[in-house]
Amino acid sequence: MIEEWVKQMQNQVNSIEKLEKYINLSDDERHAIEKLNTRWGVSPYFASLMDKDDPECPIRKQVIPSIKERVNEYGMNNYLVWKENRATEEARPDSIARQYHDRIAFTVTETCGIYCRHCFRKELVVDRDLKLRMDVKEGLEWISNHPEIRDVLITGGDPLLLSDDKLKYLVTSLRDIPHIEMIRIGSRLPIVLPQRITDGLKKAIGGYHKVPVWINTQCNHPKEITEQTARAIYELMSCGINVGNQAVLLKGINDDVDTFRELHQKLLRIRIRPYYVFYCEPAPGIDHFRTPVEKGAELIRDALRGHTTGLAQPMYVLATNIGKVPLMPDYYIVGKNEKEYALRNHKGEETKIPNMPA
Ligand SMILES: *Cc1c(COP(=O)(O)O)cnc(C)c1O
Ligand code: SF4
Repeated sequence: MIEEWVKQMQNQVNSIEKLEKYINLSDDERHAIEKLNTRWGVSPYFASLMDKDDPECPIRKQVIPSIKERVNEYGMNNYLVWKENRATEEARPDSIARQYHDRIAFTVTETCGIYCRHCFRKELVVDRDLKLRMDVKEGLEWISNHPEIRDVLITGGDPLLLSDDKLKYLVTSLRDIPHIEMIRIGSRLPIVLPQRITDGLKKAIGGYHKVPVWINTQCNHPKEITEQTARAIYELMSCGINVGNQAVLLKGINDDVDTFRELHQKLLRIRIRPYYVFYCEPAPGIDHFRTPVEKGAELIRDALRGHTTGLAQPMYVLATNIGKVPLMPDYYIVGKNEKEYALRNHKGEETKIPNMPA
């Protein structure tokens, strides 16, 4: 029997004819799909969440190509080579991206459940100008020869599109390496294809083991969360897998106070812990999704801090070739001297606490 998620992948919505079953295309959307030679597509499930008539729908804007992708005034060329330190001296397999001493990103596939228009890995995943050899055996061998690596982030593309057997092999092989203390998987599937969370997957990567598996998904707008998402997250947690979110700050999609707050509150309501909000990276052709850098810190200040629980607070980071740099709001300390600290809260009220000599 073919599993539902496999059928969803086989029936990926990736032509105008298929898309017209879900929405009334605008002229701009139709024009962009016809003119741009770009890989695009979305699962039928996620397509069904699109607004039929509104081209400003936050899901439509993440899924349907825009002619603005031709513009690259502010982006960097060869972005991924820079960002993933692919041009450094340390010899590494193509599948291994390294910015830190103790952890690496391990790229295992270039296929996705949806091809996000704002993807910072679009050179690899969407445009496919950057070709990487994704040899899992070679990557595993490199990891086992590097005892300083204690944390492996499996990424892509979308790793959860691998079969249960392949995922089981990956997780088991990593767990067999004595210096690996934790495994992480970055996947949008809990959001864009929750049907992927099956009993088979739970068996393949779940269950008690001293090396835990963490999944970080990507949800950018409250509209992406359904009853089915809630169920899928519960299933993952019921077999010991923790789920976090890495949102991307996207202009016109989630860069207003109300949407930003609702997104983070709604994530917690379905048991997903907000982990990061990323500044939309300067990859080529995604200028139209980028805000000024400060925007994310302002949103955390105006929508989250003090306005809702600390559990809903992600860290706002800018991902760079030297790692992720936090860019949090800094209005809290309004003054300090040897004797005291003057502090401000989210309502602008001030208070003082005594300082402590070192
Ligand atoms: C994001 C990333 C990691 C993981 O970073 P955390 O801050 O630990 O989540 C590791 N390696 C690379 C290359 C990355 O881009
Ligand atoms: S799922 Fe991830 S890798 Fe794939 S297109 Fe979206 S952001 Fe890029």
